[in-house]
Amino acid sequence: MKKIFSAALAWAFALLLGLSAASAAEKPKYVFLFIGDGMSIPQRMMSEEFNKLMTGKGLVINSFPYQVMTTTRSANSFITDSAASGTAIACGEKTNNGVIGMDVTQSKNLVSTAEVARDAGKKVGIITSVTINHATPAAFYGHNPSRGNGYALGLDLIKSNFDFFGGGGVDEHGDGDVDIYDLAAQAGYTVVHEPEELLALQPGCGKVLAVRKDGALPYAIDDPDGFRDADYLRKAIELLDGDAGFFIMTEGGKIDWMCHANDAGTTLREVIDLDKAVEVACEFAEKHPDETLIVVTGDHETGGLTLGFAGTGYNSYIERLQYQKCSQDVFSGILRDVADDYEGVKAAITEWFGLKFDGDDDDPMKLTDSEKEEIKKAYDRSGENHKEISRVTHTVVKIFDNKAGLGWTSGAHTALPVNTSAVGVGAETFKGMIDNTDISKKLKELVK
Ligand SMILES: [Zn+2]
Repeated sequence: MKKIFSAALAWAFALLLGLSAASAAEKPKYVFLFIGDGMSIPQRMMSEEFNKLMTGKGLVINSFPYQVMTTTRSANSFITDSAASGTAIACGEKTNNGVIGMDVTQSKNLVSTAEVARDAGKKVGIITSVTINHATPAAFYGHNPSRGNGYALGLDLIKSNFDFFGGGGVDEHGDGDVDIYDLAAQAGYTVVHEPEELLALQPGCGKVLAVRKDGALPYAIDDPDGFRDADYLRKAIELLDGDAGFFIMTEGGKIDWMCHANDAGTTLREVIDLDKAVEVACEFAEKHPDETLIVVTGDHETGGLTLGFAGTGYNSYIERLQYQKCSQDVFSGILRDVADDYEGVKAAITEWFGLKFDGDDDDPMKLTDSEKEEIKKAYDRSGENHKEISRVTHTVVKIFDNKAGLGWTSGAHTALPVNTSAVGVGAETFKGMIDNTDISKKLKELVK
């Protein structure tokens, strides 16, 4: 990992210094686009700081030579959703929140960078940690007035004829007359659901739909040794590499989910997980330095994450996030098992978040009397049979994040601009302050 990182960094700096043989007018044969859903500057910098404190190294994505502020508003709102921002990043046009790959009138299909790359003869891959017909990945192949029409977007996926799909399963794959997976197989896709089946495929095997049967990938914090975005990307590169070149979009889709839930510890591990996938692209770029472009962006900010907290003033304690050992979702499940006994709940909080109810008052992870009271109150309000034990989870995570010197202002998206990072052939076109639609406008020119 260390070796890969430093090699990637060296490659980035070499390009920055103009040491690459590629001229600015050249077009990349290989284009990688990465999207962190809900990943804006606070998410990136929190993860950067955590990584530096834990490993001495920042994120690969923050080492890229071109870093540009990127506005995200949709056609009908200052605060975008993932359908409108996905459409903007994929197709280069603004549309309304909720709309996938269509214009504001919802009467005209827009054309995505992936479709342009396909029509230019390039191989196309789409990878995501959430369901493959979720808003962001769907914006690259789908055309529908509503992001909620999962089955129709599944049909669009097949129609796209793209070469590789990997990651989370097709949502609503069985809601129509015929299962999407069966239809994909009939259309010539090799459909596999297990990583071992995917790994067994060889170049030349044709179109591949390699997604989990159902649902998104687990959170990285709960699945550190699992088959992740980076693994799907490594295999996609192996299958798609050839004379035609390729365009591969990889999404870290669950950054957004845990920002909605205001869970910093799980969020930053999702960002780092996406960064590991970017490392895979950098590894490839080292072998094809004059032919590769890597672009990383976010589709919007989620949660109003603040790298500071009223209670901790000028101090920040990001390293305390290391004590969190599971996602909110998993923790609520753990609490459910011990919910009848408050002592068991307290023990679980200490075990999984490092928050202590007793001990030395100087211990920063010791809960104050008012924090203990807050947690007990949430427990008392968890209802009959503690059905709403997730109230305790939310209270614990809020206190935990505040102890790390972090705050959240929203359970929804915000209008904070995101950062777009670029390295490689054509990266120099990412300059100044841009709009999310500019990403597609630039990439369409480069993948033609
Ligand atoms: Zn969201």
